[in-house]
Amino acid sequence: MKKGPTEWEMKNVIMPLMLSGAKMLDRHCPKCGSPLFEKDGRVFCPVCEYREKQKRREMKGVEEKLREKLNELASSLPDNIDELEKHLRAMERIMEVLERYRKLEGEK
Ligand SMILES: [Zn+2]
Repeated sequence: MKKGPTEWEMKNVIMPLMLSGAKMLDRHCPKCGSPLFEKDGRVFCPVCEYREKQKRREMKGVEEKLREKLNELASSLPDNIDELEKHLRAMERIMEVLERYRKLEGEK
């Protein structure tokens, strides 16, 4: 899906970059259509970099919450066997999701 820079991104990602002395090139990012920039000899798309960072931050947030829940579950195991079974199944599911997240993060 092609999604150009939003107004917010223009103002908060691209503008500050221009003011910081990065050079705006007359080429555009094939992914999002934002102008590419060059700084310290490196050509990059500020919008894609910003989105990537955001995504990673969001994933970290979810991961942390899942970990918290996992700890919570682990420290409150019920004595009742049926309840325990449910508990363990929930923990197993959380670990599965965490594992999937880890794989996602490994990919690029
Ligand atoms: Zn881009």
